[in-house]
Amino acid sequence: MYRIECDTHTHTLYSRHAYSTIEENIRAARENGIKLLASTDHFSDMLFGDYNNVKNYQYFFCSNNWPRQWNDVTLLRGCEADIVDMDGNFFGHDISIDKSVVGDPYDPARRLDEMVFEKLDFIIASVHAKRHTEGKSIAENTRMYIKALEHPKVFFIGHIGRAGVPFDMDEVLRRAKELHKPIEINEHSFSWEGHHQMVCRDVAIRCAELGVSICVNTDAHMALEIGRTDRAQNMLKEIDFPQELIINRTKESFLEGLSACGIQINV
Ligand SMILES: [Zn+2]
Ligand SMILES: [Zn+2]
Repeated sequence: MYRIECDTHTHTLYSRHAYSTIEENIRAARENGIKLLASTDHFSDMLFGDYNNVKNYQYFFCSNNWPRQWNDVTLLRGCEADIVDMDGNFFGHDISIDKSVVGDPYDPARRLDEMVFEKLDFIIASVHAKRHTEGKSIAENTRMYIKALEHPKVFFIGHIGRAGVPFDMDEVLRRAKELHKPIEINEHSFSWEGHHQMVCRDVAIRCAELGVSICVNTDAHMALEIGRTDRAQNMLKEIDFPQELIINRTKESFLEGLSACGIQINV
């Protein structure tokens, strides 16, 4: 099997349909040989009824208090932000915040997405609700993904193989390569037989041909899933995917990858 020492797409209880704490995820990471864990909860209107209430996002605002090393696991602070329009904007871009969580005024008002993103190490950009892509062309969808990927804090698109939005694979992969950003291969996408798995496989084959890095993640919504990417690895083995193109093979290679695309963090 492959050497994969980082799990950089994982969820905690904060995501509301996930079931473990960060500490439980850290413990599972250590047990499964993971040396670097990124906790990347949803930043999306799927979480809260009053999703424009700034108080709901304190979890992200204070994440800079998390320890960098926890039980010998390096911990990164991220989020999985929803792409909400065809310009590749993210959830929160149109939510204006005029006071802090304790009611102190902001003058001028601030943008929710910027308030959250400035506290985090990197962002995963994902499509969950697809309404804005209905009736749109492959060219428009491709542009949406590329725009999202060009955000300086976005490191990769989340589960592009199973989002169900058709796109021009070569265009997205080539732009990712130019930006020194990887393509995610997401273990959760192998929970469904058929189409999604084939898209993931096609994406991986094309990444190998074009020399584009991939990032193999669990998208764990429970601690017991952390670090387990057996189905994704089986697919990669079948197509003889080269180990050296797996950006999260070691902690060092992942951190170098972040820095190569301009995302600087101190760990
Ligand atoms: Zn989720
Ligand atoms: Zn996720």
